[in-house]
Amino acid sequence: MNKAVFLDRDGTVNIEKNYLFKEDEFVFINGAVEAIKIFHDMGYKVIVITNQAGVARGYYSENDVIKLHHYIDDELKKYHTYIDTYYYCPHHPEGTIAEYSLTCQCRKPKTGMIEQAVADLNINLKESIIVGDKEIDIQTGKNAGIKYSILVRSGHLINESDTEADAVYDDLLSFAQVGFRDTILWSGEGK
Ligand SMILES: [Zn+2]
Repeated sequence: MNKAVFLDRDGTVNIEKNYLFKEDEFVFINGAVEAIKIFHDMGYKVIVITNQAGVARGYYSENDVIKLHHYIDDELKKYHTYIDTYYYCPHHPEGTIAEYSLTCQCRKPKTGMIEQAVADLNINLKESIIVGDKEIDIQTGKNAGIKYSILVRSGHLINESDTEADAVYDDLLSFAQVGFRDTILWSGEGK
């Protein structure tokens, strides 16, 4: 089985912008690319899971989401790294586009995207980690039974005194450089 680092996208990998879908508004958070390389070097799949309610709200299309992910792939290729797979939820219960306006099983903190990744990539969640900038990412990790849930300060304002996260770091790279290696050591299961 494989182990994975599940990454939230906006506010964790790239700078948070409301309803981002344009390539020219996509900017990596400092160090995020290097962090992705570290996760791969340590033997983890790197999987993006992102809520994209902008599709349900009619701000952009599913095709726009896919195009942006291709753009991210092209950018990462320049640095000789990659995201293994992307999963996105286009739904929202109060959307304006009928086909996406529903209560689904994939919108975080529900676990549909994680379960799909487990099925597609044979992931062992007991060896896996989730990193995000919102408490819903942490809840997703807990709901799915992921071993470690890590909150980062690089996106939304967070309440560090009231989080269920296992740890909080400034950003993805500081987790990768400091916390990640420590986490592997704590677990005694860095296999
Ligand atoms: Zn969904």
